[in-house]
Amino acid sequence: MGRHFLQIPGPTNCPDEVLRALAAPTIDHRGPEFQALGRRVLEGIRPVFGTGNPVVIYPASGTGAWEAALVNTLSPGDRVLCFETGHFATLWQRMATELGLVVDFVPGDWRHGVDPAQVEERLAADPAGEIKAVCCVHNETSTGVTSRIAEVRAAIDRTGHPALLLVDTISSLASIDYRHDEWGVDVTVAGSQKGLMLPPGLSFNAISDKALAASEHAGLRRSYWDWRPILETNANGFFPYTPATNLLYGLEASLKLLREEGLKNVFARHDRHARATRAAVRAWGGGLEMLCQDEREYSSSLTAILVPEQFDADEIRRIILQRFDMSLGAGLSKVAGKVFRIGHLGAFEDLTLIGTLGGVQMGLQLAGLPIDTGGVNAALESLRDESQ
Ligand SMILES: *Cc1c(COP(=O)(O)O)cnc(C)c1O
Repeated sequence: MGRHFLQIPGPTNCPDEVLRALAAPTIDHRGPEFQALGRRVLEGIRPVFGTGNPVVIYPASGTGAWEAALVNTLSPGDRVLCFETGHFATLWQRMATELGLVVDFVPGDWRHGVDPAQVEERLAADPAGEIKAVCCVHNETSTGVTSRIAEVRAAIDRTGHPALLLVDTISSLASIDYRHDEWGVDVTVAGSQKGLMLPPGLSFNAISDKALAASEHAGLRRSYWDWRPILETNANGFFPYTPATNLLYGLEASLKLLREEGLKNVFARHDRHARATRAAVRAWGGGLEMLCQDEREYSSSLTAILVPEQFDADEIRRIILQRFDMSLGAGLSKVAGKVFRIGHLGAFEDLTLIGTLGGVQMGLQLAGLPIDTGGVNAALESLRDESQ
């Protein structure tokens, strides 16, 4: 009985307003009603990225928008600089390699974000400008670590290096403060199923003027992902193929919710819930650790928790799913079985947080971890101390 707790860091829970919007009848995607919808969502999405430039919307998962960012801006054999912040950064660099790019993959320990000093060092060591792009995952969903993109930008600027800056915000957009234009990001990659509170199926490229200029002579093969025909038809509110009309209805509803709450308040809400979650983890003790080791880089959309060696994080998740009907995020690849992740992003409020943490606390006890049961209380106190 009751509802399932979907507390993975994406897909997230869809608000009723979004679900109702999705259920409207599909319309003619070449007619005037669609054209008006297309114009509204293409315009309305820009402030969410912090951009005044066009944003391309693909009927694809986030992975498709990763590919689009690369094939529209780069040429075979181009060098790109990537950072091993976790599972998603690893997949993106693998894709870059498969597409024929030459990747400098800076190793990482999966507990830290992109180090701006390393960005500076690598670019300073490339006076010939062979590196054509720096790729960063803003919020590494596998580790709960948020990289400091403004500082990465400043590091690039100190070297005067012309490389493009490509940033994956799939699990941070509309959850964690992000500014495409102000931070001089060239392509921002995002997806629908995390902070935007939609089902999976849409993804995005926000594009700077510099990235658009690069696309004029980028030599990687592309057809479906090509920005140009999309931007041309988008200018009139249309798409060059059948768009995911119903997901665009949902997007319009989600943009309305974000506008009504105000992006600043959306970010503050996520920060507050993340702090309360960390208060619970600290109070539980029992050998649990935040996977993120730099407090400047704590993620506000999820918390990844490292369990003591003698325990299996997947077994804890299994117990919680079976007993409390709650899904938590699994540890991915290198941290499989060692980490579980609590998603606290999207359509999420105080009582959902307390229910989620209550389920985690009971599950940890059932799994035999020697935790202090003051965790949920610590979260309540954290919420009270900074009630909005
Ligand atoms: C979820 C996620 C992806 C993958 O997106 P898909 O929609 O599954 O293709 C990539 N990067 C990050 C940071 C993510 O959180």
